[in-house]
Parts: sequence; C-alpha cells; structure tokens
Amino acid sequence: MADVFADLVGQEEAVTTLRRAADSAAAVLRASAGTASRPVAAAAPAGPAEVATADPGAGMTHAWIFTGPPGSGRSVAARAFAAALQCVHGTGCGECPGCHTTMTGTHADVRLVVPEGLSIGVNEMRALVLRAASTPSGGRWQIVIIEDADRLTEAAGNALLKAIEEPPPRTVFLLCAPSTHPDDISVTIRSRCRLVPLRQPPAGAVAEVLARRDGIAPDVAGWAAAAAQGHVGRARRLARDPEARQRRDAVLAVPRRLTGVGAAFDAASALIEAAEAEAAASVAEIDEAERAALQTALGAGGTGRGAAGAIRGAAGQLKDLEKRQKSRATRAQRDALDRALVDLAGFYRDALTMALRAPVAPVHTDTAAVAEAGAQKWDAEGALRRLEAVLECRAAIEANVKPRIAVEAMMLALWKG
Ligand SMILES: [Zn+2]
Repeated sequence: MADVFADLVGQEEAVTTLRRAADSAAAVLRASAGTASRPVAAAAPAGPAEVATADPGAGMTHAWIFTGPPGSGRSVAARAFAAALQCVHGTGCGECPGCHTTMTGTHADVRLVVPEGLSIGVNEMRALVLRAASTPSGGRWQIVIIEDADRLTEAAGNALLKAIEEPPPRTVFLLCAPSTHPDDISVTIRSRCRLVPLRQPPAGAVAEVLARRDGIAPDVAGWAAAAAQGHVGRARRLARDPEARQRRDAVLAVPRRLTGVGAAFDAASALIEAAEAEAAASVAEIDEAERAALQTALGAGGTGRGAAGAIRGAAGQLKDLEKRQKSRATRAQRDALDRALVDLAGFYRDALTMALRAPVAPVHTDTAAVAEAGAQKWDAEGALRRLEAVLECRAAIEANVKPRIAVEAMMLALWKG
C-alpha cells in the first residue's frame, strides 16, 4: 500500500527516522490523552540531542530541518512527515482524512510557506508564528512547513528563532534548506532543530517512481531521470513537457556553437533571453490573476466621497503587488538560468568522465557522441577547465554578479578552453 512516504525517492534512511518520529509523536498524544495533567512536555525537549530513554516522546521533537540538493525532495519529505503527524493512525497511512488533507494542502493545522520572492519577510513570519501558537483544531499538531528557509530575511529568522526557542506545546516547525551552512540557516536555529539530511536520489530510483506514479514509459523515464541528475521534479517535467525538452536541447547545443568570440556572446545572449522567456511564461498567469483579484477587491472605478482616498490606498496596494511580482520574476529567471547551467555542467562532466575513461553512465545520453568528440579534442584537463567555468558562473550568479556578465565570461572561457 502506498503510504505518505512512498514518493520520497531513494531516501530510506530519512524515511526510517521520520517513521520513528511519527510513532513517538503518536505515543505522546496517547500519553497526554491518558494523563491530562501532564500534557506534551515530552514533545519539546530543550535541544536537538537524541535522548534514548523510555520516554514516549524521545523520537519526536518540535523543530526539524530537511536538507539536500534541489529536487531531492525536501518539501516532499516535510509534507509527508506532516501527514504522518496528522494521520489518525499515527503512521501516515495515506488514506485517512488527516493524511489526505495534509497531502492536498487543505489541513486546517498545517501551514505551508512557499516564498515567492527572493526572501521571506519579517511580517509574514510574525503572522505565521502567531497563528502557529494556537491550539490545533484537529487535536493533534499545529504544523508550519517553511520551504526555502534559506530565503528568510535576518529579521524573519529571528522571529522564527523566538518561536522555536519557546515552542507552544503542540507546534511543530519543519524547515527546508539546501544545507546547514550558516549562509543557508543561522547557527542558532540550526542548533535547535533535528536534522534530516536527504541525498541526491539515484537515477534508477527516480525512473522507477516516474514509471510507477506518473505512468511514464520506462525508456522515457530512464532517459529523463538521468538527464535531470537526480532532480525528481525536473525529471518529470522533461518526461512530460515538450517545451522543457526543447529548452534543454537548445542549452546542450551551446558547446557545438562556440566557434568564436562573436558566437560566444551570441550564445550568452541566447541563454539569458531563454531564461527570461521561460521565467516570464511561468509567472505570467499568476501575475495576471493576482492583479485582477486586487482590482476586484478594490472595486476599480469607484466614484464619490472617499474615492480619492481609496484610490490613494489602492495605488499603494498595487505598488506592493508589483514589487512582489517583480521579486518573484527575478527569482524565476535565476531558477531557469540555473537549470540551464546545471544541464551544461552535465555535458562537460560527461566529456570529463569520457576523457578519463571512467566507468560511469553519461548524464545526457542524447549528446554523448558530442561529449565524446569534445573529450578527444580537449583531453581531461580541457574538459575539467570547462566544467569549472560553468560551476564558477553558477557561483558568481549566486553571489549576485549580474547574470549577463557571468554568462558572457563563462561562454568565453568555454570557447577558449
Ligand atoms: Zn493516515
């Protein structure tokens, strides 16, 4: 039977930890139902230290961090764990109302924060923390899932820290972040949380889940899983979306096109513009829906007394909305560009492993012949230099270098070798 952890691909260790925690959490609830005078203090130990005692809450704690590379399933893991905590059987059966509403995002006691811009602000966090302190309406746990906790502003991080330091008895925080590096998550928050590290799932496991859950033909699933380099969502998109495949083809055509300085600059422009177009398409629909909703809410076109004041207020709200949308668009562009760079890095990695005659499967089976030709021309050293140029470009953009400048430098380096 497929329980809530079934979609967590290739993460056996993490699933074992989470099942045990869900068991402990259920025991805590049972114990508190038995002894109303001593509620769930056991669910909130002072720190992350694992205490191996007969305490029914030993496997459970009130704050967790899920880390792992993009696409490894951080938010999938957090949601599955939330479902297991809300499951009426305490196991994450996948079928009861607790599991079902959590997985579909409609459980009254589970809040999911998905930052749309480049950071999560303090006001949003304060409101969230306040609501999270209320008693769970379903009688189990009050759960807050924060995706991309690395995008918290410092002030928002402090607001969250306060809540984690003095947790309401039935509140559980589930944070997702790429790593526990201090750039991603503050040391003080980290020290209060239990860590669930996820690994990059192996291509075979990703292919299996695409075939089983999404009904994708096994050969397509195998190709997409390898090409997506362990990113489950990306693999599914490649398998299903012809436009995503076309964009990938265009990126992988770059190495063949770098025939001179002019061609390098052209390739840089093409890559940037493709990322912009992809990002614009991905946010256009929701931007328009938000604008329409705001205009309806403001009763556009009102007249009479007070209308002038209303219009001033409306202008402010519209400005706020535009600011949010701009921030979201910037992030979508960065994400799209990063995906392209990861594909490109996969190509040069293939060339490198071929030059070294390393017995590993290529990332991009469909450009393996081109990578092989590159391997012969460049040798391992030249392939490695090119791979490093792509990785440096990613790092530069991460460090806020203007994308166009970073990508142009990369293309020149790829051409010169
Ligand atoms: Zn259930």
